[in-house]
Amino acid sequence: MAQENNHLSKKDVVIIGAGAAGLMCAIEAGKRDRSVLVLEHMNKIGNKIRVSGGGRCNFTNIDLMPDNYLSANPHFCKSALARFTPRDFIAMVESHGIAYYEKEKGRLFCRGTSGDIVRMLHEECRSVGVEMRLNCRVGSIMRTDRYSISTNFGNIEADSLVIATGGLSYPQLGATDMGFRIARRFGIKATQLKPALVPLVFERRDLKKYAELSGVSFDAMVECRGRQFREEILFTHTGLSGPAILQVSSYWERGDTIIIDLMPDTEAYELFMSKRGSRMELSNLLAEHLPRRFSHRWCDVNAPSRPLCRFTEKELKEIAHLIHHWTIKPEGTGGYKNAEITAGGIDTDELSSRTMETKKVPGLYFAGEVIDVAGQLGGYNLQWAWSSGFVAGQYA
Ligand SMILES: Cc1cc2nc3c(=O)[nH]c(=O)nc-3n(C[C@H](O)[C@H](O)[C@H](O)COP(=O)(O)OP(=O)(O)OC[C@H]3O[C@@H](n4cnc5c(N)ncnc54)[C@H](O)[C@@H]3O)c2cc1C
Repeated sequence: MAQENNHLSKKDVVIIGAGAAGLMCAIEAGKRDRSVLVLEHMNKIGNKIRVSGGGRCNFTNIDLMPDNYLSANPHFCKSALARFTPRDFIAMVESHGIAYYEKEKGRLFCRGTSGDIVRMLHEECRSVGVEMRLNCRVGSIMRTDRYSISTNFGNIEADSLVIATGGLSYPQLGATDMGFRIARRFGIKATQLKPALVPLVFERRDLKKYAELSGVSFDAMVECRGRQFREEILFTHTGLSGPAILQVSSYWERGDTIIIDLMPDTEAYELFMSKRGSRMELSNLLAEHLPRRFSHRWCDVNAPSRPLCRFTEKELKEIAHLIHHWTIKPEGTGGYKNAEITAGGIDTDELSSRTMETKKVPGLYFAGEVIDVAGQLGGYNLQWAWSSGFVAGQYA
């Protein structure tokens, strides 16, 4: 990707991070005729956009509600999301002739590849004269009346500095803790960080019981801390994954249990009672509703199988309860290297929700995942990056 390298030394706006939020902010600031320079330490822009949505980029969600976000202040995200909505991003996508489709639950994906979105952002940046510096290592940042940023390409001065360095997840794609270090340096607080939208790891005991199910997946209802998600769960060689597990992982805290309804559409007790007199094995009956490998293993562990006629009514009631409330106490998560996002971040009390500028340090802005706003799975995180980047770009 081409990079321009003119007049590095003085800019109106310097943005650190050429991801979703940084690029959107650059476009908007550029439209206001601000001279904009984006600093990126990787050799490409938009690495996470490229891998997002399995390479098809789930770029927004048309059913978006503020309730789809976790934050210490659930109201903070509302202003930005209302000022740059999924419709606004779709309009940009359509103006570039990018084909897209709704997969399910309001989730929009590219028909082609995520690269279409990266190219669109790059074209938009170019059209408003945004400059980019790739392979750029940012050193110290000083503030007098302007910002002075030292880099391996020399010093740069800027009126406004936007931190759009994202979260800590997927360091292999360029994630660093620079945003949080800059915050500390300027006395800006951050909330506790944790990997989110991340697989959960079995306790050793459960791993022994269920590791052989690696690769098995099915639709289930998963609950943690009162939040329920109906999507696929997937057994892995270390624990559980799949969209429903990723969703609850953002709410899960160490020591919590998760409750899985294995047959959300079928009343297990009624099913058992309908075959009460039968010589059919319990595991074979369950295998009509669940993957065979799973139903056999699950019965081995939780309800050793025998013909249905040899269970008492009380036993069938208890097994039915277990089917709808299978309880797992994960040992931990797959960590940042397997997490789609980082939950927690720059404390929203430190920022104006209207501008994304810090209240304490004039001219210093944060945008995107670096802020304590974490979306659920389904296009919400990219929409937060577009919306918060857009807002910062109106003022930086
Ligand atoms: C595998 C995967 C799939 C995903 N799929 C989806 C999806 O389909 N839909 C969705 O909504 N969300 C998805 N997400 C989440 C989404 O990609 C992020 O929430 C979003 O990209 C955050 O945007 P951002 O601009 O805040 O941060 P990022 O996109 O992470 O951008 C931050 C940028 O800052 C750069 N940077 C970091 N440190 C430095 C430094 N020290 N110096 C210079 N530059 C630096 C990084 O290299 C990066 O380019 C996915 C995430 C992953 C990991």
